[in-house]
Amino acid sequence: MKGYAMLGIGKTGWIEKEAPKCGPMDAIVKPIAVSPCTSDVHTVWEGALGERSNMILGHEAVGEVVEVGALVRDFRPGDRVIVPAITPDWNSLEAQAGYSMHSGGMLAGWKFSNFKDGVFGEYFHVNDADGNLAILPDDIDPAAAVMLSDMVPTGVHGVELADVQFGDSVCVVGIGPVGLMSVAAAALRGASHLYAVGSRPNCAKIAREYGATDIINYREGDIVEQILDKTHGKGVDRVVIAGGDNDTFAQAIRMLKPGGRIGNVNYLGSGDTVSIPRVEWGCGMGHKSIAGGLMPGGRLRMEKLASLLSTGRLDTSKLLTHRFQGFEHIEEALMLMKDKPRDLIKPVVVM
Ligand code: NDP
Ligand code: ZN
Repeated sequence: MKGYAMLGIGKTGWIEKEAPKCGPMDAIVKPIAVSPCTSDVHTVWEGALGERSNMILGHEAVGEVVEVGALVRDFRPGDRVIVPAITPDWNSLEAQAGYSMHSGGMLAGWKFSNFKDGVFGEYFHVNDADGNLAILPDDIDPAAAVMLSDMVPTGVHGVELADVQFGDSVCVVGIGPVGLMSVAAAALRGASHLYAVGSRPNCAKIAREYGATDIINYREGDIVEQILDKTHGKGVDRVVIAGGDNDTFAQAIRMLKPGGRIGNVNYLGSGDTVSIPRVEWGCGMGHKSIAGGLMPGGRLRMEKLASLLSTGRLDTSKLLTHRFQGFEHIEEALMLMKDKPRDLIKPVVVM
């Protein structure tokens, strides 16, 4: 089969490879629609996972099941499915402890384009099909549904980690596709003042549509000062970090009220340490909590998040700024993600 692969750090290209084999609990799926991710860019061009050669990229897909293992109960060839980016081993001890995304080791629930070939192939393998696949409802456009693989569950997880409650004031740092989903999720969770940090005008516009009450442009001044200004020096109850760098942590601590909580889903790609400002952290006694996590995967969560699209509570189609038709456009879509023109939010490739 054909696939679009990481050939080595900084190198990508089309390769021919043997089609994946199906184990007794697994499924083989062919993509209906896929989307490249900022994480694919980190993997290839920043070597975030270390050296990988001839590994097919991609972890965001909806597809059609072509084969299932003998022990799979609920899925059949021909089923149209949503495939989460994170596909844990549900019988692992980590999953039993409530941290399925770390099944088999820290971050090891992330398998596509990490430990095995990803979804940018003519076929791809899904472990634990009953636990990880979800039926794609007929009323959801497959292109919009691809956002359920990673953007929705990650954005939502930032809000879960920050534990947003009714009436909380919330700052979402970063309004790329992940942060935009955090804005939408914070609004669904009952945020009151919802500050969204970014600089791209189209992202700012969509952030408002998803419920942001104020846009903070980090290129126009320190975001801590801007937030403190808007909150009469008090700061916010919750911060969701979905963009920025190591310094964003320090900024989040500074803009947080005592008792507040930070939910980070941003990938921290450089440096050995992340610093926390001592005084603003209450000299260790400020009750300012920090949580950071990889999104949980799994079928139940996928089905629940898909129901937000079916009921019209969440419209992911706003994220899709660039649509391509045909497998061969995967390369173009990935290069867009790498180059990030300012009008890009998410590209999607429909087969
Ligand atoms: P984007 O690059 O599209 O968006 C990043 C956002 O951060 C933009 O809004 C950008 O603003 C903003 N930003 C950049 N620099 C700063 C800064 N110094 N201060 C404040 N804001 C800043 O990324 P994605 O939305 O695709 O992904 C976000 C992060 O989530 C990535 O690190 C990605 O790897 C990670 N991720 C994590 C997952 C998980 O499970 N935890 C899963 C998937 C992704 P501007 O408007 O100027 O572009
Ligand atoms: Zn992704």
